[in-house]
Amino acid sequence: MTVGRRDLVRWLDDLGWHDPPSAPAPAAQAPAGRRSGPASCQTLEELEAFLEGCTRCDLAEKRHHIVFGEGDPHAELMFVGEAPGADEDRIGRPFVGQAGKLLDAMIAAMGLRREDVYIANVVKCRPPGNRDPKEPEKAACAPFLDRQIELIRPRVLVALGKPAANRLTGTTKPIGALRGRWLTYRDIPLLATYHPAYLLRNARGKRAVWEDLKKVMARLAKA
Ligand code: SF4
Repeated sequence: MTVGRRDLVRWLDDLGWHDPPSAPAPAAQAPAGRRSGPASCQTLEELEAFLEGCTRCDLAEKRHHIVFGEGDPHAELMFVGEAPGADEDRIGRPFVGQAGKLLDAMIAAMGLRREDVYIANVVKCRPPGNRDPKEPEKAACAPFLDRQIELIRPRVLVALGKPAANRLTGTTKPIGALRGRWLTYRDIPLLATYHPAYLLRNARGKRAVWEDLKKVMARLAKA
């Protein structure tokens, strides 16, 4: 999905900012290899194929599609959300509903295109009724997100919302205590910020998110 021009203009107008920077250069390509388990998958394609038909947790029961993730496989910037919603489950792509439209606007405001970054979720299947994923579900899906990040090797990770921030930092702190400062996932700089779905309900959070995204842009601009 591409963000509509009106959405982008509104997002930029809200922020009083109209001068997108140039996009960062892509990272090196991962080698090809076998796929006997998540850790042995050497490409995102192998990992996605390995996940096909996955029944490792209860979320398999009611899902329509596994939402693996999408974007530049060598992206310097990777966003991680919580879980697919109804639209994502129906289409099989991450962040394609209203929250996805807002994420597209956020990415565009950074001077990037959706296809320049990588977008994934903590769990790859939709929790019924959009409930929070349960701990066993997050644990079952963890090796796939971990391997996804290993293969992409982004320079910067952005966790969208508390569940993603908690998963990537190994903490249970609220998003208000985590957002806006540099953390790490393994050795990768990580910034947590509010989820776009939260911004749809709380527009005042946009300013804080923009301050977070500016930190990400500054970090990516460093050699
Ligand atoms: S959420 Fe992850 S572990 Fe659970 S069934 Fe879907 S792909 Fe498999």
